[in-house]
Amino acid sequence: MLSVSEARERLLKALPVTGKESVSLSEAGDRVFAEQLIAESDSPRFDNSSMDGFAIRAGDLNGAGQGKPKTLKVVGDIPAGAFIDRILGKDEAMRIMTGAAMPAGADAVVPVEDTDAPGAQPGAPLPAQVEVRAPLKSGAYVRPAGQDFRKGDVLLEPGKCLTPQDLALLAMQAKADIKVYKKPRVAIFSSGDELLGVDQPLTPGKIRETNSHMLAALVKSCGADPILLGVARDTLADAQAHLDRAIDSGAQLIISSAGVSVGAFDYLREAVTSRGEMDFWKVNMRPGRPFAFGSYRKIPYIGLPGNPASAFVGFEVFVRPALQKMAGVKNWQRHSVLGTLTERIESDGRESYLRVHVKDGVEVYLTGHQGSGNLYSLVQADALMIVPAGVKELKSGSQVEIWPL
Ligand code: AMP
Ligand code: MG
Repeated sequence: MLSVSEARERLLKALPVTGKESVSLSEAGDRVFAEQLIAESDSPRFDNSSMDGFAIRAGDLNGAGQGKPKTLKVVGDIPAGAFIDRILGKDEAMRIMTGAAMPAGADAVVPVEDTDAPGAQPGAPLPAQVEVRAPLKSGAYVRPAGQDFRKGDVLLEPGKCLTPQDLALLAMQAKADIKVYKKPRVAIFSSGDELLGVDQPLTPGKIRETNSHMLAALVKSCGADPILLGVARDTLADAQAHLDRAIDSGAQLIISSAGVSVGAFDYLREAVTSRGEMDFWKVNMRPGRPFAFGSYRKIPYIGLPGNPASAFVGFEVFVRPALQKMAGVKNWQRHSVLGTLTERIESDGRESYLRVHVKDGVEVYLTGHQGSGNLYSLVQADALMIVPAGVKELKSGSQVEIWPL
C-alpha cells in the first residue's frame, strides 16, 4: 500500500496547472498572481513631507531652541498634490502638508507644533513669517524618494495569492488588468442510496448527505470553483452518469465521496475504469484508507472516503495541495507547528491524523471519539495532529506535529 507521501507525490505530479486570465483590480483579491510585478518607478516617487509643518533648510536653524527661536520668512504654501517650482532660499520657509512634494532647496520639515503658527486649524491663513523653536537635522520629517522601493525592483512573484496589501501595491503601479491563474473547476458528487438532502423527509435507514457541503466549501477555500452534481445512487449506471455529467460541466478535476472501498455496492472504481483508469485506491493512513486516484475520460478523478472525518482528512492531506498546485500557488506546502500532547495515545502504526484542540498555542487535546463517522469531534477540532507511520504509542508530554486548520 502507498504511503501518504508517495500517494501525494503521484497526485501532484499528475495534475496540471490551469491557464491564465486577466481580471480587473477589484476582482483580483485572493486570486493567484500569474506574472511578475516590477516597479516602474521609485516609491515614494518624490521627496515629500511626513508632517504638516514648514519646509526649511536645516542649516538655517543653527542654535534655535526653546528660549531662542529662529524666525523664517514664509514664501509659499504647498498643500498635498501641489508642486512649487521655486527654490527655497536662505532663512525662508514654505508651509507644507503631509504627503506634499518638498520644494527644491529645502532639506527638512519642522512640524507645526514646533512653531508659533496656529496648528490643527483648517483654513488657517498663511503667516508672513514663522518662529521655529527647535533645531532640526537635515532630512527630518522628509520621506525620501525610493525609501520604500526602487524602480526595477521585483515586487511580486507569480504564484502569490493576492492579499489586500498586494492590491494596493498593484494600484500604486497603475495596474488595471491583473494576470491571474484561472480558478480550477471542480465537480463534486456524493454516492450512496442512504443519502438524503436537507429538504427531503427522513425515512428509516436514511441519513443526511453532508459531505458535498463540506467539500464545496473546502474547494472554495483553495481558490477553486465547485460544481455540485448531487448524489449518485449505488448502481454502476448512476455512478457513470454522474462522472459523465462532471465531464460535461467542463470540470478540470472530479471529486466524489464514498463508494470507493470494498463494499458490495461500491461501484465507483468500476465506473471510473469503464472509461478511464485507476492509479491507486488505497493509502496507508488513518482515517481515510480508501482514497482513490485516477482519471475518467482524461480528466483527473479523486475518490474520497464516505465517512465525513475521513473525507475531510483526505481533502486536507491530498486535495488541498493538489488544488493549490493546479491554481498556480507556489508555496502550497503545509506549515506545521509543534505542540505538547496532554494524554497518552495508542496508534496502529498507520500515519494518522487526529482531531485535536490546541490550547494556548501548545497544549494538544483530542476533541472526542476519533471514529471516522463522527462529525462533531471534527467540528470541535482546530487542528489535525499527525502520528507518524510506524508509531504505536505516544506518551503524554510528547512533542507532536500539528496542522492548524
Ligand atoms: P461508503 O464509502 O459508501 O461505504 O460510506 C462510508 C460511510 O460514509 C457510510 O456510513 C456512509 O453512510 C457515509 N457517507 C457516505 N457518503 C456520505 C455523505 N455524502 N454524507 C454523509 N455521510 C456519508
Ligand atoms: Mg456507500
